[in-house]
Amino acid sequence: MYADVVLPLPLDGVYTYNIPADLELNVQVGCRVLVPFGTRKVYTAIVMRLHNVKPDYATKDILELLDQTPILLPDQLKLWQWIADYYLCSIGEVYKAALPSGLKLESESVVESNMDFEAEHPLKPSEQLVMDVLSEGNGKKIGELQRSTDLQNVLPVVRRLLDMGAVVIKEEVRRLYKPRLLHCVRLSEDFFDETKLVQLYDTLEKRSPKQFELLQAYLTLSEAAFAIKMQNRVLLKEVSKSQLMQAVAGSPLSAFNALRTKGIFETYDRQVGRLDSSDMEGEIFLHALSDAQTQALESIREEWTRRPVCLLHGVTSSGKTEVYTHLIKQTLDQGKQVLYLLPEIVLTTQLTERLKRIFGNRLGVYHSRYPDAERVEVYQKMLSEKPYDILLGVRSSIFLPFKNLGLVIIDEEHEQSFKQKDPAPRYHARNAAIMLAHQSGAKVLLGSATPCLESYYNVQSGKYGFVALKTRFQNVQLPRIEVVDVKELQRKRLMKGPFSPQLLETIQAALEQRQQVILFQNRRGYAPTVECDVCGWVPRCQNCDVSLTYHKNTHQLACHYCGSVYPVPAQCPNCEEANIKSHGYGTERIEDLIKEYFPQARVARMDLDTTRSRLNYEQILHDFQQGETDILVGTQMVTKGLDFDRVSVVGILNADTMLNQPDFRSYERAFQMMAQVAGRAGRRNQQGLVILQTRDVESPVVRQVVENDYESLFREQMQERELFNFPPHCRLIYVYVKHRNEHVVEKLSHELATIMRQVFAHRVMGPDTPFVSRVQLMYIRKVVLKMELSAPMNEARERLLQIQRYLLSQPQYHSAQVYYDVE
Ligand code: ADP
Ligand code: ZN
Ligand code: ZN
Repeated sequence: MYADVVLPLPLDGVYTYNIPADLELNVQVGCRVLVPFGTRKVYTAIVMRLHNVKPDYATKDILELLDQTPILLPDQLKLWQWIADYYLCSIGEVYKAALPSGLKLESESVVESNMDFEAEHPLKPSEQLVMDVLSEGNGKKIGELQRSTDLQNVLPVVRRLLDMGAVVIKEEVRRLYKPRLLHCVRLSEDFFDETKLVQLYDTLEKRSPKQFELLQAYLTLSEAAFAIKMQNRVLLKEVSKSQLMQAVAGSPLSAFNALRTKGIFETYDRQVGRLDSSDMEGEIFLHALSDAQTQALESIREEWTRRPVCLLHGVTSSGKTEVYTHLIKQTLDQGKQVLYLLPEIVLTTQLTERLKRIFGNRLGVYHSRYPDAERVEVYQKMLSEKPYDILLGVRSSIFLPFKNLGLVIIDEEHEQSFKQKDPAPRYHARNAAIMLAHQSGAKVLLGSATPCLESYYNVQSGKYGFVALKTRFQNVQLPRIEVVDVKELQRKRLMKGPFSPQLLETIQAALEQRQQVILFQNRRGYAPTVECDVCGWVPRCQNCDVSLTYHKNTHQLACHYCGSVYPVPAQCPNCEEANIKSHGYGTERIEDLIKEYFPQARVARMDLDTTRSRLNYEQILHDFQQGETDILVGTQMVTKGLDFDRVSVVGILNADTMLNQPDFRSYERAFQMMAQVAGRAGRRNQQGLVILQTRDVESPVVRQVVENDYESLFREQMQERELFNFPPHCRLIYVYVKHRNEHVVEKLSHELATIMRQVFAHRVMGPDTPFVSRVQLMYIRKVVLKMELSAPMNEARERLLQIQRYLLSQPQYHSAQVYYDVE
């Protein structure tokens, strides 16, 4: 028997391995197997197909079967294949993105020993050997472990250690969450008795003072006397192991172990800080819906009887989330599961709390900021007999195993972060989720106050159902938007740096009334432009084709593409004058300036820089929510669907940077960002005010934002898209080529475009030099292919891959990369 498997590598297609006789009965499609690949490497592969057609090359044996039952359901394999086909990548790349690292160990995975681990059974010699090597610290690649241990095959050993929690996969993203498990101690049942305890006390006091001391400390911490008097062990206060260790001087570990061995203490783990720690069993409490909301809910259900996908266009704060919770409840009542997709990690925090209050531990959360071990756990729970009924997550949660999916909610469906840019698979989670729902016969609800034009177009063409929710909850009015003409104010010299007098006055008034303010500036750092005032020299990144941004708190110049940082030169390297100046306003500078204007106000900043360092986004949001901050300055992070009570003013500092982006979606995005951030104002009781600063007061998008006129944005943009043939009128495929050498990339891109023209004729545009044409030392060129929606995509894909193979087989292009981005 043979198994076709997919490897976690960017390779096309599947690889065939021989199934050893003793495994033949057990290997199933969807199980993981260990296979050798290349000269020395071992990978975790997934079985896609079983057959007995002997390939015409020598096959290697499967080394080990990792699962007794499949960890990948048939629908998941189908989704992987669909993504690979549609987004023109290999299925191995989908596999890499789809499973948490802990489920796909390979020679390159880095493991480290888990400091908190306590063995329940003695380790086997091979396991001990690995632990010894790891104790040297800092983590090791599995490939390195293989070499330094001389074991026949180290991977299964590592996997066992991983399962028992002795080792962990080293995290690239540092954990932002509390450890999942708290090691706790309690008095065992046998000694939960006053007489016995007194006896024990006496013996220990004489024989082992250290153990005595420890027991004493425990009894105090746990308030045991009371619990024993009441004869109820539940009344023992929980004592963590580290708490107990700290209560006793010296290193009481051996004494502790002795007490445990004697059966006086017992240890257990308690889950902390995570959802499933909650003991709540679906104490479901839903808000009663308003009339408008009830109406919307019923219309959605009616639309679903005709088409599986429905778009809910609800103005900000209309209560879309409330409508979702009712639909979730109805789906759960039918015994089905719900996938609730959000675009951003930022949003999950607020929503998690909101949903947890309603659905308790039936809710699971999955996102990339969780440590890998926790993601593995969520994955396995979804496979188990008692999976989460609701899964809240960001785009990668479409890869979880759903056994019984009934509803997919895609909130803020217009958000571009649903699209993965890099690395492959460059998939759009909204589209992939619709596919997933389609496979399981689930319904889909897309929700947004500013729908993506493609979705709205699908409504118009009858593909999606449509429901509108036009009023805010309790009829709070949408915010009033005042446009401020920056050009005019500058002419009259009335601008105070980035602030108009109107904006400053409004902020002042809001602060006096103890209201909060959000200031939105779509640039992070201190100053976006740095320049020599004498000769005009501009510092640029050495790896990328972009100018650098000045960051004041680190006093460095930073590249926002590759993350490199550079010192600020004391003098200009070009003309040697010491006259380097920074211009423009990033969020960091706005924060500084606003503090100068309002020294009494408490100001916080939310952008990529503040949310990856000490003050993480949760803290910032929490403080703002609790009213501990008055003014929140931020990038588009503050525009997302957050729900605050006391924000009465929103300032959009510079609409022009958004309008001048070189992208066919820039107007649509500018509208979405401005309408969304405006929607943060005045969500309770009173109407909010938005100050929109722009040099281009005549811009149609500005008018559409002011009038909240989505229809007219849609009409105008659709005309333009039609005229210039952009999606949704065609399918847009960007073909990128990358190489270290600019001449090579030039030549290759021209050759590529020429051959593509022979095949696809007028549908090919370019090659172009993209806006940012060099990133991390690689030069980039792009060729655009615009296919009719009716064109057979399989054929196009085959042709593209043929061309790619042909070009890359030429020696001069060997180290070039070709990849695709399907819009
Ligand atoms: P959206 O998702 O459309 O922006 P939300 O669902 O966040 O709107 O609702 C805005 C606010 O109004 C929330 O704080 C929400 O709790 C409240 N709200 C909306 N509908 C109701 C309702 N039917 N009962 C009680 N509160 C509601
Ligand atoms: Zn100069
Ligand atoms: Zn760079």
